Amino acid sequence: MTKDLVCIVCPVGCRLTIEKDDTAENGYRITGNTCKRGINYAIEEMTHPTRMVPTTVKIEQAFLKRLPVRTDRPIDKKLIFEAMKVINDFTCIAPIKMGDVLIENILGTEVNIIATRSMDKV
Ligand code: SF4
Repeated sequence: MTKDLVCIVCPVGCRLTIEKDDTAENGYRITGNTCKRGINYAIEEMTHPTRMVPTTVKIEQAFLKRLPVRTDRPIDKKLIFEAMKVINDFTCIAPIKMGDVLIENILGTEVNIIATRSMDKV
């Protein structure tokens, strides 16, 4: 079985083909990559896919009702749905500074949810 993926590690966007191959060092044969980072990305995608999550949270006492946030590192793809429930239930209060940790260690993953902009109190 083969799987085709676009490598998202850099803007080149190499088209990777991944084949299960028990004789290969890491269990997969990867072609189409221009550099080794593509191999690492493909293996991560096959064994432990993760994603950065950009989203928003509710904010009170600010001029907008939602504050943009993101994970401070990639989170296990399987946990994104559960993490979004926690994020959607969360409300912060202005003022907030860009980079503030709003939710620490979400779901015990050691991933934090951080503000991606500042918002003053009104
Ligand atoms: S394989 Fe290397 S060059 Fe190609 S997209 Fe991935 S990181 Fe960029």
